[in-house]
Amino acid sequence: MNWQWSESSLKQLETCNPYLINLANRMLRASFYDLKITCGFRNKQDQNEAFLEGNSQLKWPNSRHNRYPSRAFDFIVYKNGIQAWDDRELLATTRGIAYGIASELGIKLKPTIQWDLYHIELADDFYPELRWMNGSIQ
Ligand SMILES: [Zn+2]
Repeated sequence: MNWQWSESSLKQLETCNPYLINLANRMLRASFYDLKITCGFRNKQDQNEAFLEGNSQLKWPNSRHNRYPSRAFDFIVYKNGIQAWDDRELLATTRGIAYGIASELGIKLKPTIQWDLYHIELADDFYPELRWMNGSIQ
């Protein structure tokens, strides 16, 4: 497929950790369906709004969306031009692609949260930047 990120997806992606940007770009290339990045970094106001609206269980600054660059992004899959919020099978398939690519790239992700299939997050112990600084890339 030859999907391209929309302006709003790119704007969200730019706020993400470079490993997540790379992962998302490869997800889009591998996906049979168009994707959108709905959220990267969330500032204090956005995080507390997400909490109040039930879209996040965490208040600022406890979400990995609150790191800068963001250690998490949210995505949605388009099926026939419509955002497939309730298509768990399609979401699971797309997550499978993401986790497969991550493993190929040596990116460690947190396990899937069943109530939040739209959320991709780096594992807390995945800090390759620190390993680079110490001069030992693994
Ligand atoms: Zn999220």
